[in-house]
Amino acid sequence: MPLSRSASQPTSPATPRAAGAGDVMDEGTTTCPPSKGTTTCPYCGVGCGVDITFSDGKPSAVAGTRSHPANGGRLCVKGSALHETLGHEGRLLYPQVDGQRVDWDCALDTLAERLAATQREHGQQSVAAYLSGQLLTEDYYVANKLFKGFLGTPHVDTNSRLCMASAVSAYKRAFGADAVPCCYADLECAELVVLVGANPAWNHPVLYQRLKAAKQRNPLLRVVVIDPRVTDSCEIADLYLGIAPGSDARLFTGLLAWMAANGRVDRPYLERHTQGFEQTLSAAREDDVSLAAIAADCDIDPERLETFYYWFANQLHVVTLYSQGINQSSSGSDKCQAIINCHLAGGKLGLPGAGPFSITGQPNAMGGREVGGLANQLAAHMDYDSPGAIDRVTRFWRARRG
Ligand code: SF4
Repeated sequence: MPLSRSASQPTSPATPRAAGAGDVMDEGTTTCPPSKGTTTCPYCGVGCGVDITFSDGKPSAVAGTRSHPANGGRLCVKGSALHETLGHEGRLLYPQVDGQRVDWDCALDTLAERLAATQREHGQQSVAAYLSGQLLTEDYYVANKLFKGFLGTPHVDTNSRLCMASAVSAYKRAFGADAVPCCYADLECAELVVLVGANPAWNHPVLYQRLKAAKQRNPLLRVVVIDPRVTDSCEIADLYLGIAPGSDARLFTGLLAWMAANGRVDRPYLERHTQGFEQTLSAAREDDVSLAAIAADCDIDPERLETFYYWFANQLHVVTLYSQGINQSSSGSDKCQAIINCHLAGGKLGLPGAGPFSITGQPNAMGGREVGGLANQLAAHMDYDSPGAIDRVTRFWRARRG
């Protein structure tokens, strides 16, 4: 992904293209090299806004965009070195067919012919698209529309397939939609932040700095780190639970049972907003839910386990931030669901500073999900089997194949 457009390949004014994350939206015209631009850092899920200064047409300095809601002017060491680490060397700067440089008409005609030939020979569903987490939402939308609506194949996946599929399915099971009920600002108004299978100190550095600053501003804000590894995020932890790998679902189903046993379930909230709580609780109680048994299964100290349960159960403004340590598991959906269930049971959801927060690994992973960039989804949070969805989307796209 280029940090800036190649000076030798200006974009024609007649064929404007939406900038992707990492592309530069220049302030100048195509005939006058811009001296400044704005873009998005392509490295991690925080998605920091970046101001770029150009000298002689090349990026010479970067700074965090002060008005950007993700970073408010901050950049981590990776983002701060963008202009030094990204270059054009080894990048595809021109269309090529079979290794030979060609013009756009030739490239597009060849692509169309080969897609059609592949479908003729191997069937309509023999072509697929896999989209990076660095695209803009509009780019995902167009690719999804092309492949599902006009090539007639469902095989469009984004980086969410590898990264976030567990989180997606758990949100859909819990809420009926892949909707994350949290934002970054929630971390700053929570009273308890639980980091599970996430090491934001390394993987979401600017968000971690925001959390660290929030903790300095609010000494009552507690942070719990749950991870088999002692990570750098433990620097701000009030409590660390070094659970045995794979025992996270046991930890959270045990928490649900503990909340119920200790009168920390929000019954009015459950009655107004949920269904199936008793069955869920019964399932959680199928295992031995004594603290000693849970602690033994998780390989942690029972007193530390009880401290975590007590803090979680007695605080309304709780954010549980989880990432690949939860998602990337053969039972990742169940692990995400176990976390969500605890938030629902305690009514720790739908208010500032509270909720189950799956954080993405890539800048615009959520954008891909918003427009249906998964093979088992159609478009815009509609499934293939949603009543009337295929017909509705086909008409809206004016597609040949819905
Ligand atoms: S926190 Fe992530 S998005 Fe922000 S500058 Fe660092 S790597 Fe880039």
